[in-house]
This record gives sequence, structure tokens and C-alpha cells, in this order.
Amino acid sequence: MDSSPNPGVTVVLGSQWGDEGKGKLVDILAYEADVCARCAGGNNAGHTIVVGKGEEKKKFDFHLLPSGLMNPKCTAFIGSGVVVHVPSLFAELENLEKKGLPCESRLFVSDRAHLVFDFHQIVDGLKEVELGGSSIGTTRKGIGPAYSSKASRSGLRVHHLYDPEVFAAKFRTLVEGRIKRYGHFEYDTEAEIERYKVYAERLRPHITDGVNFLQVALAEKKRVLVEGANALMLDLDYGTYPFVTSSSTAIGGVCTGLGIPPKKIGKTIGVVKAYTTRVGGGPFPTEQLNATGEMMQEVGAEYGTTTGRRRRCGWLDLVVLKYSHSINGYDTLNLTKLDVLDGLKEIEVAVAYELNGKEIPGFPADLDLLAQVTVKYVTLPGWNTDISNITSWDALPETCKAYVEFIEKFVGVPVEWIGVGPARESMITKTLP
Ligand code: GDP
Repeated sequence: MDSSPNPGVTVVLGSQWGDEGKGKLVDILAYEADVCARCAGGNNAGHTIVVGKGEEKKKFDFHLLPSGLMNPKCTAFIGSGVVVHVPSLFAELENLEKKGLPCESRLFVSDRAHLVFDFHQIVDGLKEVELGGSSIGTTRKGIGPAYSSKASRSGLRVHHLYDPEVFAAKFRTLVEGRIKRYGHFEYDTEAEIERYKVYAERLRPHITDGVNFLQVALAEKKRVLVEGANALMLDLDYGTYPFVTSSSTAIGGVCTGLGIPPKKIGKTIGVVKAYTTRVGGGPFPTEQLNATGEMMQEVGAEYGTTTGRRRRCGWLDLVVLKYSHSINGYDTLNLTKLDVLDGLKEIEVAVAYELNGKEIPGFPADLDLLAQVTVKYVTLPGWNTDISNITSWDALPETCKAYVEFIEKFVGVPVEWIGVGPARESMITKTLP
């Protein structure tokens, strides 16, 4: 028997409001992984992987599938905590295949995962309209309504697809319930039931007992890489509720979403953008509604992969990062998009929040309080030079290193990788202390 220690599961999590550029790190780490997994969320997430530069440049978009599939030797696992819109799953597979990345034979889906249906997407839109001015800004992919069905114990799981009578009965009840709640909407329930008979057959070879699947993989010392979707500040419990997603995007969601014990987690990596962005509503203390924010939007190409929406931009908020670390317990950090700050003479970093002239501990739960905080900043010198072609830590300008070291010291976590451009190659590895 192989007595070498099990490397455990490596987890990559977004530490802010998402879109930190997790995809690139996952893509790099996937080349040392045997299984890449998603544990929560649905096709509301989005990772963009850019391979090559200039004419050779190719872009791969991932929504429901883990981007670790970029490694042709990696097997993908969709865990029980994920909600799956089957037609979108197939569309994503077909799209990747068209780009020369066949994935279908490498995909496994937990039979406990819940299903997202088109009517969930309709309801998502109706709910947002109902909320009017205080809408959440969801991607309208039906993710929230599908998790609502799950939490109210009326949802349908993957395994239900293989008992057609039970599926049809539960499906009808579910749609009727939504119509009762939201009023009449156009939806052909019976046609959908028929369509799902076809989807079920196509999905059949990919279905697995998720708990058993990972238990076997870990016993065989397979290296498992978990790709967090969304990010800590969008976590249902710890994010800026109600402007959050409907699942556990924090470290706890890894265990519940995959069905693995916490002790199996070997390393947790937090991905941090060198500034802050967020999509949708809710207070955002370091937001810059000025030329600096616009520069971040333009230089950082801050438009959503899933929705194309312009992201709100602001200074790096270390109050958020520290809060995020206290929940997720990062072993190391990946600082991304540092090159976006290249043109700045000075850079501000948020280090504390004050309310009524007094510094407050942590990150407030109450968004009304969050909207009232005054942000305390530290101003650091910028490097005012192009770092996008730099390939080593030593070659970075001193002021740039000082920015990275300030973050490390403040949060108490070493930075292991630094992103200096969109391409896979534009990532500096920093030696750990
Ligand atoms: P994710 O969901 O966290 O993976 O983030 P997105 O995919 O929405 O956004 C990442 C975007 O930023 C992609 O277009 C990447 O190519 C790009 N990106 C990732 N890292 C860097 C970086 O270090 N510098 C720059 N300029 N762009 C980056």
C-alpha cells in the first residue's frame, strides 16, 4: 500500500465580491490535479481563461463547469451543493468542444445535486421586478429560486430524473406552486417534462454517487482541486446580505457541497484582486465614482463574463480581506490584476471603518451601518510603470513589492502568486517565507 501522505484537497476561493480572476489560478493548478470540482452555485458564476497572446489568443468561458477542465487529463466533478441547469450544461460542453476542448467524457455529476429549470429563471426575473429599486441584481439564471426550492424541500435532484413518474408529479407540483406565488406565466410544463426525458438519457453516463466518488478519489490519493464560485462577500450567511448569492460560497460550502470532512482540506487559497469590484446592488465603502474608478473599469476590463454588466470599482479594502480570511482561513493568497494599477502615482488601501468617529471591529452585518461608515485609508506610492512583462518577484519595482508586502502584513497571510496580465503566463510565483 502506498504510505505517502494524502495531499488533501486544495481549495481556491474568491475573497471579495467575485470576479477576482480565480479562473487563471485554477487553470495553472489544474495541471497538478487529477480532479477539479465545483461545490456550490450554478451557471451564474463565470471564469474566463485566456491562453496565449496576440493573434494566438484563445478565450474559454466557464460557467457551470470547473475551469480545471483546461487540463485534458483532469476529471471534472459537479458536487451535491451545486444547482444544475441541464440544457446550459450541455451548451457549455458543446461550446468548449467547438473550441477544441472536448470534456464530455471527463464529467461526473453528483446524483444529489439539485436541478435548475427554465421556470426558475422566469421566477428569478419576476422576483427582481417585484423588488423594484431594491433588486439584488441577480444574473437571472434561476439560481436563487432553485436554492429556494431546495431549502423549502420541494426541489428536484438529479436522481429524480431516473424515476419519470415521480419526476413528472413533483415537477408539476413545483410549477403550480410558483404560479400560485407569482401569478400566471407562460410555461409549457408537459413539454418540459418530455424534454427532460431526453436530457436524462444524455446525462446518465455522467451521474455518480458524489460522496462515494470523492471518497474513492481521495483514497486513491488523487489530487482534488476545488474551484470556488462567486466569493466570500456573496456568501449567503457571511456576505452583504441580501446582496448575495443563494449558496455557501465560504469554506464551509466546500465540505457540505462536496460531502467531505474538513480534515481532508489540505490548502485554502484566497484570490484577491489588487483593487475591489462588485456587480449589482448594495453598499460598497471603497467605491470610486470618479476617474480612478473609470480607469479600473477600462484597464481592468471590468465587465461580467456571465452578464456583460459593467462592474463597480474601488480601492482595495483590507477590512473586507481580513474579514474574509477570518472565515475562510487562507493559507496563501493570489493577488490578481496588479498591472491594472500600473498608471497610478499613489494608491489608497482601506484599513479600517469608522462609525461616529470610532473605529469598528470587523465588518458590519447591518448594511445600513455599512452605508454610513467612513473609510480610513493608507496611501502608498504607486510604481507608475508597466509591470505586465515582469516574470519574477525580484524584478518588480520596489514600490510594487511594498504594496504586496503591506497586504501580506496587514492580513497575516503570504502572497504566493501575483497576476500581472490576463494570460496564463502572466503570473509571478513568489517564494513563501
Ligand atoms: P473569476 O470569475 O474570478 O475567474 O474572474 P473573471 O473570469 O470574471 O475575471 C477575470 C478576468 O480578468 C479575465 O478576463 C482574466 O483574463 C483577467 N485576469 C486575470 N488575472 C489577471 C491579471 O493578473 N491581470 C489582468 N490585467 N487581467 C487578469
